Amino acid sequence: MDAFFVSAAILLIVGLKLMGRAATARKGNVLSGIGMLLAVATTLWAFPPKNIWILVSIVTFGSLIGIWTASYVKMTAMPELVALFNGFGGLASLLVGVVEGLKLMHTSDDSVGTGVVFTQVAIVSAVIIGGITFTGSLVAYGKLSRKLPSGSIVFPFQPYVCFALLCFLYWSSCGWIVSQSIFGFDPFYAMIAFSLIAGILFTLHIGGGDMPVVIALLNSLSGVAACAAGLISLNKVLIVAGCLVGTSGLILTLIMCKAMNRSIGKVLLGGFEASETKAQSKSSGKPKTMMAEDAYFPLEAARTVAIVPGYGLAVAQAQHAVKELVQKLTENGAEVFYAIHPVAGRMPGHMNVLLAEADVDYDQLTELEAANARFQETDVAIVIGANDVVNPAAVENKNSPLYGMPILEVFKAKTVLVLKRGQGKGFSGLENELFLKDNVRMIYGDAKKTLTQLAAQFKGE
Ligand code: NDP
Repeated sequence: MDAFFVSAAILLIVGLKLMGRAATARKGNVLSGIGMLLAVATTLWAFPPKNIWILVSIVTFGSLIGIWTASYVKMTAMPELVALFNGFGGLASLLVGVVEGLKLMHTSDDSVGTGVVFTQVAIVSAVIIGGITFTGSLVAYGKLSRKLPSGSIVFPFQPYVCFALLCFLYWSSCGWIVSQSIFGFDPFYAMIAFSLIAGILFTLHIGGGDMPVVIALLNSLSGVAACAAGLISLNKVLIVAGCLVGTSGLILTLIMCKAMNRSIGKVLLGGFEASETKAQSKSSGKPKTMMAEDAYFPLEAARTVAIVPGYGLAVAQAQHAVKELVQKLTENGAEVFYAIHPVAGRMPGHMNVLLAEADVDYDQLTELEAANARFQETDVAIVIGANDVVNPAAVENKNSPLYGMPILEVFKAKTVLVLKRGQGKGFSGLENELFLKDNVRMIYGDAKKTLTQLAAQFKGE
């Protein structure tokens, strides 16, 4: 039996390693899936349920929903789906904690042994972290899908309310472990309620540019909650899987923080700061526009071209169209590179996934620092549906909430062509002064249509 659990854990670890590179990510996903299947089958074999058919029908129902959503979700809605999946991971751990906690309350005698305290601590962790992850992810889902305002939502005395909530959480969990009621309330139910409220309150005030870090953090928390659930049920493979998600999510969180030049503390308190900062761009003027047909001349003459994709590329589903244009530019003798910002789009690696779909060569993708070193020598930078990740306020305007976030410094290129539909703002909801600079020309319209028009110029159609 243990051999199967160990094999499942190895498959999960190898799968995760393979997911680190775009070229092997698919294989990694399949291997991890097989590992998970093996883990579930072995668990059922080791702990046969009383009524296997109820379990089989629930698993089948859940799997069908999973297959249906994954097949029909739009590529642009993928980040929301990931946020929901994180939330359901948290909910599962919360439920394990609740069920085991209730069992313990109804079966335990008064003797509190070390084993019982260990189980209680694991239950408290699963309930609190699972609860926060569940409701926090629902709020993240709401913000990403714009069902809630994407900026920070603040109300009077919010920091104090959050602090009080933390104290109540600590109080209720300790109260449950030492069997003390809180003002006549059962501490276990109070702990569940406080965790669910905490998830909402801790995420509500985080907004704008900090959302990617929060999503990575919630992903990490869902792993920690699963690990706690594994400790409750002493399921080795769940402990390993939870640790993997928890640590890899934490590493991703730190990478995202570095990419945005923010500390985790600043991200978690950011909304309170942002609410005090009324910084917005003050410059006036109108962006200069250009027709797609006229863009042929600078592009035809360009020797170095940078492609800067953003969320709009995903909305327009323009990944194949951009590859076609790059092919034309390369045939024309230009050296072309894709400049990838780590938080472009709406989920970590969003641009890499999109471009991989169009079989763009992985070697053509250039990371932030390397790309910034090249912009000065770049003849034309084509910004495709990117906004926040190229906003110069991040380096020029100390009062901007984006200040300090490393950006792709496209404004240093000789000519910048910005492809977007109109005056729409980015995820942060801030104005972008890039569009007013002298070397920048706006080409309005859906990115896919514009890119197809640009490529057609080279064909002479
Ligand atoms: P932004 O969200 O800043 O901007 C996207 C731009 O695309 C908009 O200004 C919009 O303008 C344009 N656009 C939309 N649809 C189209 C279309 N069909 N054709 C052409 N343009 C289009 O995107 P960025 O990638 O620059 O920045 C990502 C933002 O999202 C950052 O603030 C980041 O912090 C945040 N975020 C990132 C996450 C991640 O993990 N990567 C997760 C959550 C948030 P218009 O409407 O005028 O066309």
